[in-house]
Amino acid sequence: MPFKRLLSCLTLFSCLTNLHAQTPDISQKVDKLISEMTLDEKIGQMTQVTLGVVAKGGGGNEDGSLDPEALKHAVLDYKVGSILNTTAHALSAEKWRAVQTEIQDEAKKSRLKIPVIYGLDGMHGQTYTLNSTLFPQNIAMAATRNPELVAEAAHITANEMRASGVRWEFAPVLDCGRQPLWSRFPETFGEDVYIGKTMGATAVQAYQADGLTNPTAVAACMKHYLAYSGARTGKDRSPSYIPEIELREYYLPQFRNAVKAGAATIMVNSGEINGVPVHASKYLLTDVLRTELGFQGVIVTDWEDIIRLHTRHLVASTPRAAVVLAINAGIDMSMVPTDYSFFDLLKEAVQKNEVPMSRINDAVRRILILKYRLGLFDNPYPEPASFANFGRPEYQQTALQAAREAMTLLKNQNNILPLSKDKKILIAGPSASSIAPLNGCWSYTWQGNQEQWYPADSKTIGETISEKTGGKATVISVKGFDNAQNFDTARLKAAAADADVIVLCLGENAYAESPGNIRDLALPENQMALARAAAATGKPVILVLTEGRPRLITSIEPSMQGILMAYWSGKKTAEAIADVLFGDYNPGGILPYSYPRYSGEIVLYDRKHTEDVREIFNAEMTWDGYNPLFPFGWGLSYTQFTYGPISLSAPAIKGTGSITVNIAVTNSGSREGKHAVELYTHEQYASITPSMKRLRAFKKIDLKAGETQTVSFTLTAADLAFVNANLKSVTEPGNFDLMIGNQKTSFSYQP
Ligand code: BGC
Repeated sequence: MPFKRLLSCLTLFSCLTNLHAQTPDISQKVDKLISEMTLDEKIGQMTQVTLGVVAKGGGGNEDGSLDPEALKHAVLDYKVGSILNTTAHALSAEKWRAVQTEIQDEAKKSRLKIPVIYGLDGMHGQTYTLNSTLFPQNIAMAATRNPELVAEAAHITANEMRASGVRWEFAPVLDCGRQPLWSRFPETFGEDVYIGKTMGATAVQAYQADGLTNPTAVAACMKHYLAYSGARTGKDRSPSYIPEIELREYYLPQFRNAVKAGAATIMVNSGEINGVPVHASKYLLTDVLRTELGFQGVIVTDWEDIIRLHTRHLVASTPRAAVVLAINAGIDMSMVPTDYSFFDLLKEAVQKNEVPMSRINDAVRRILILKYRLGLFDNPYPEPASFANFGRPEYQQTALQAAREAMTLLKNQNNILPLSKDKKILIAGPSASSIAPLNGCWSYTWQGNQEQWYPADSKTIGETISEKTGGKATVISVKGFDNAQNFDTARLKAAAADADVIVLCLGENAYAESPGNIRDLALPENQMALARAAAATGKPVILVLTEGRPRLITSIEPSMQGILMAYWSGKKTAEAIADVLFGDYNPGGILPYSYPRYSGEIVLYDRKHTEDVREIFNAEMTWDGYNPLFPFGWGLSYTQFTYGPISLSAPAIKGTGSITVNIAVTNSGSREGKHAVELYTHEQYASITPSMKRLRAFKKIDLKAGETQTVSFTLTAADLAFVNANLKSVTEPGNFDLMIGNQKTSFSYQP
């Protein structure tokens, strides 16, 4: 389906069939199958192991070749229903197809011939197939404010995954990025609920767009339910304490929307909330997710998370108690994944009546339905019709466009940018001659930091700038982010002598999960020293940041003439950076988070009034509680956009009615540009303290110089809802401010 059509279809929810409504046919088949299954066969279906368990040489295996005995042991003796992950690194599409074929051949030898479902990660493109197309991480996708790109990227990822013979995608990440220290911040759509909600659901629909049996779709997996991102310390998998009102206001809506969008599966948060590990929470897994949200699909654990109820969380005194707790809470499948302990323990627990058969049958039913819906019972093998959908040349264009639209110009003092291609440019800094710090996590390896697995035509910033300037640029950075030469300030000073301008490339090397934990949000001192040395040369410095989360740059910011936030924008990051630096592309990305100024002041844009106001003495006050280095939604362009007054179709939303909001936006500068128009509201008074502002809608437009476009939004009462003290989502009658750009008006809601 062409992408434009795909998107309009997705947005309108018009091509959504109820993805969980089973045809009577599937239901009957599944019931019959379950009636024939032994307890071992059922528990096997609930067991998921990692590829290392069945690969020659285990987890360190380099070429993906399987160990026939180990495979037989897994599929025939333990009857495992699912396998995940790669071994050391990504494999070729051909190799994946061979692996899948061998696994399904083994499954065909089993008594009931139930196919195996294979799952892989694909957070910003298909992580574990060599030469797959990598797109910007979600944080950068959020900066584009363009759901069409999210849909295109997800659809391509689905195609490349299915072409690798795999039908289960462990994405999208729906965690809300409200803790910038968290090492998985780059995988989030940022701090705002509405962006996460809309882009997350768009991704789900695009992964599953053509229906799961189709060789262009995969089953999506919403993750990580719930509030994984809310860890108090910011360390991965560390505890969070979140009152339920906050859980429901900021972390649940993304999942609610993705369930509505038909997500087939969900993965659970490895952490604990208020002392209850989510894997042990019957309340969150069954009462909220199943009963309240109506989720019908498969609930899979995250890595080793059942045994960790015993070994880490200490809420189960034995390994079997951990299994009992998790399965009774509502888990359907255990990502065990490195042994068969779960199988043995669950069997014992069922035999001792600690887990009812009804719960086992319920879990197995959901897993088998998923396998039927994915067409695995008809043909579990790689589908030749999908092969040509791997690595199509046009995917590179989508990757480039997404990276370009993500680029967020934070500072442009005296219009130092765009640079002229005749300038003598010095390129320095640890990220200028490497690929990994442009892509980040989940890039051909888990950590993304092994450059030998990246496509041969991947480019560095040094290379793309050199190309643009016809080789005139001087690159002093060397390959390898941590190479000491990259931090040599004397070298930088000497090389700057005859440069006109310095492009300084700082940020973060690739990391994922716990290895990405940091002790300090500040940019490391060796990079700060490099920035100071660059500024001390007296030459103008353009700071290019490639980073997964906002590292503090407050003290160096004043001495940088230009700052470009490039995030981790995938395969085409370096091309997009060069396009923006030289004005071949006009930047239009805007921040999906508040870039903090101080580590002690992590205040988010949707703060409360009392976070803004500070009482100094008696009636003396300041209003600088929200004082980030760059605010949420910030981003410059090489042109200017001006806003006409907001016009409303009516002064009030009445009952279930709506109002239309119109605003004329003009490109009053001298070149074409894309621009995200954002609509915020603020309820003047409410039963609980209202947020200062909340994003309710956005639209990305493209205007030629001098062009004006009227942008329309429709608002209903539901768009203004918040979670009240009784944990109910309500819209209270009252007056609301409505803000778009520098324009403001107000309206009321009357039930
Ligand atoms: C991550 C998940 C991922 C899983 C399988 C876990 O460590 O938290 O996001 O899907 O591994 O690779």
